[in-house]
Amino acid sequence: NKQVLLKNYVDGFPKESDMAVTSDATINLELPKNEPGSILTKNLYLSCDPMMRNRMTQTYEGAYMDSFTPGSPLVGVGVSKIVDSTHPDFKKGDYITGHVNWEEYSVIRDPQFLTKIHNTDVPLSYYTGILGMAGMTAYVGFYEFCSAKKGEYFFVSAASGAIGHIVGQFAKLAGCYVVGSAGSKEKVDLLKNKFGFDEAFNYKEEENLKATLKRYFPEGIDIYFDNVGGKMLDAVLPNMRLHGRIASCGMISQYNKLDQPEGVYNLQHVFFKRLKILGFTFYDFLHLYPKFYDLIFPLIRERKIEYLEDTTEGIENGPAALIGLFSGRNVGKQVVAVSHN
Ligand code: NDP
Repeated sequence: NKQVLLKNYVDGFPKESDMAVTSDATINLELPKNEPGSILTKNLYLSCDPMMRNRMTQTYEGAYMDSFTPGSPLVGVGVSKIVDSTHPDFKKGDYITGHVNWEEYSVIRDPQFLTKIHNTDVPLSYYTGILGMAGMTAYVGFYEFCSAKKGEYFFVSAASGAIGHIVGQFAKLAGCYVVGSAGSKEKVDLLKNKFGFDEAFNYKEEENLKATLKRYFPEGIDIYFDNVGGKMLDAVLPNMRLHGRIASCGMISQYNKLDQPEGVYNLQHVFFKRLKILGFTFYDFLHLYPKFYDLIFPLIRERKIEYLEDTTEGIENGPAALIGLFSGRNVGKQVVAVSHN
């Protein structure tokens, strides 16, 4: 049973050597019958999420999930198949999603926090992304916080990533003019040619982000969906229009520099332009899942939304996939396929 363990708490950028891929010999594929209420899962797909970096720190500011424990497996959103069960509500062959250990097989003694997957006519891996946290975060951030109107100017950073490419398409469906920033030419081409963005640019090639944004938004930005914080947020602020909204989804540019966050100097524009900056986490909106599914399933089935996964094969390659989020290696949603069935 291969596992990915956290070796030590992480300082700065996470490295593959902060994790260890180990094998704890064998796994018994049958649960002891005297252990009622348990399930044994075969873990199929694991989601790589930027916030897992925060959990690699002993204590982090604004913590809303526990830190990982050195010597124990990483934990993240996953999709698993039940291979044995002594729990009345879960049976062998069911698929579930929820937080799972980064390991090939798990014995779960309190499965009530896991969700059974009912719709299996879409790829199961989608439950780590567009049908899971990334999709819900894009949905909550866009529909609950952006108050988008047709014709408004919408900007999203980390636009080709898991949340970014979904939220940009929501904004297009709402009739906005949509521009995204991303870190390579390949990503920029995808945004314009596959995901239907009006414009996109490679922020790594721009010397003056404030001037770049002025070029793409001569009339200013109504809505900024912020995935990165830092320098980009600072450049956006003076480009915002009166009564603009900033949905603060995440600040990946800050996660590895916990002691020296980049400065944001242009905050006076919040006052000048009467902006709303709204931070949110999808965990506070789990009750919206049914509404979200009503929207997203038809969009997926009718191919009205494009969804891109970046799949790394094999749990042993999980550490490289996870740290790749911080160098922009992933194109679309980063998934680790432990097994496809
Ligand atoms: P992505 O799939 O977008 O992967 C991360 C991407 O961020 C990378 O591919 C890279 O793309 C970009 N990036 C990495 N480092 C930097 C940097 N220093 N500056 C600018 N861009 C950088 O991840 P997600 O879509 O899963 O997450 C996006 C954001 O949403 C994160 O901040 C995350 O923490 C947050 N989040 C928030 C949730 C909520 O409930 N509010 C829930 C889940 C995630 P590039 O090549 O473009 O640089």
